Amino acid sequence: MPHVPSAPSPTEAGPKPGRRAAFLDGCAPATRRIHAPIVDLAASRGHLNPRGLGAARASSDLGSLGQSSVGFETLGDYAAADAAGRAPYGGAEYGVVQSPEADAVCAKFAGLHGGAGAIVCGSGLAAIATVLDAFAPTLVLIPEGVYFPAWRYMAEANVAPTGRAELQTYPAGASGEEVGALLARAGGRVAARDTLVYLEAPVSGTFEIPDIAGIVARAGAAGVRTAMDNTWASHVRFRPLAHGIDLAIQATTKYEGGYGDTPSGIVVARSEADIARLRRQLRISGQGAVSPQTCTRLFHRVDGAERRLDRHAATAATLMGWFETKGFAAGILSPARADSPHHGRFQQYFGAGNSLFTVVFDDGLPVERVHAFVDALLLFRVAESWGGHVSLVLPVHPRRDPAVLPKGAMVRFNAGLEEAGDLIADLDQAARAAF
Ligand SMILES: *Cc1c(COP(=O)(O)O)cnc(C)c1O
Repeated sequence: MPHVPSAPSPTEAGPKPGRRAAFLDGCAPATRRIHAPIVDLAASRGHLNPRGLGAARASSDLGSLGQSSVGFETLGDYAAADAAGRAPYGGAEYGVVQSPEADAVCAKFAGLHGGAGAIVCGSGLAAIATVLDAFAPTLVLIPEGVYFPAWRYMAEANVAPTGRAELQTYPAGASGEEVGALLARAGGRVAARDTLVYLEAPVSGTFEIPDIAGIVARAGAAGVRTAMDNTWASHVRFRPLAHGIDLAIQATTKYEGGYGDTPSGIVVARSEADIARLRRQLRISGQGAVSPQTCTRLFHRVDGAERRLDRHAATAATLMGWFETKGFAAGILSPARADSPHHGRFQQYFGAGNSLFTVVFDDGLPVERVHAFVDALLLFRVAESWGGHVSLVLPVHPRRDPAVLPKGAMVRFNAGLEEAGDLIADLDQAARAAF
């Protein structure tokens, strides 16, 4: 266990980059490698690894380099490729639309999820938007607390042929009966083919889990398509298609990319007809223009996802154990915990946890003290996104009925790949400074 010097109090110690550097001197080599070089956020425009991650950067410079033109020896060769939307070398007849590297990554994900095929987009949100655009449902059933940008896209974009889709929410921890009742009520009004049941489990920030099997059974009986945002789990913890879901959506920006530098999203479809519709949608929208460097990186990084996830989960468990002993933490939201009301479904579907948990602070504490605690952290960085090597922290503000939410301030943690002992030392010094 590395020796960690006790950090000086924030007021006497000067700017944070300097204090962080001094703190890291006492950390284990694995933790120091993750945080090197120490960046000045103003100079790097907020990027945590401004030069990229060494070895991955070198390997991503191989390949098609994202060239837009794909060459043909004759007009006949070109006409055949244009008609098929495919070049004889792999990829599309036009390099922007789909590179050979994108082909390779799609084939890999289709295999991992057991699907008929996959598409890759430039972000997780673009993958979600492509599903909505391709199938243009007029009614979407979504869980309360769904990833907010997904809700915003459904609420604001003109996805249905007639304009915006109608959205109906169901509880984040819904039973099959609850969703079945919504479907039965909609059935007289909206055709099954124009309805989409959208799942996200566990749901963002508060991590409730619905009765996935019950929902899928009722949607199936009604002939309604199902799509699941499976970003929390990744293929390592859950394979939606194996549970009867039609479309698996992954923000591969998170665990499959793994290091916060691979913005991308994947949709895997169970049927040939659905994958054909998704591919056609990408030709229409151009959302499949993902750089070959990104595809190559994703292609290799996904191989380490399982080991990383296990390590993230073990570190998250250690950190939750620390919060458990502190009076200022009134609760911890994570379905991996035996005391979670969602633990039964967690064991049924996922079996093991990930990097995320949300701490509910004692509602007697002024929120400024909670913010002072977060601001005093040196290894945990204040940033959106998660699933990467760097530990992160961010307040949670679900746009939901307050009656279903805990009372105290909520803060979400992403346990990175640093040594757990160093992260605990960071929490200790921040707690001493703030509470
Ligand atoms: C991050 C995230 C997304 C979107 O991924 P981006 O690549 O950031 O667009 C979608 N769903 C969930 C649950 C996420 O956490």
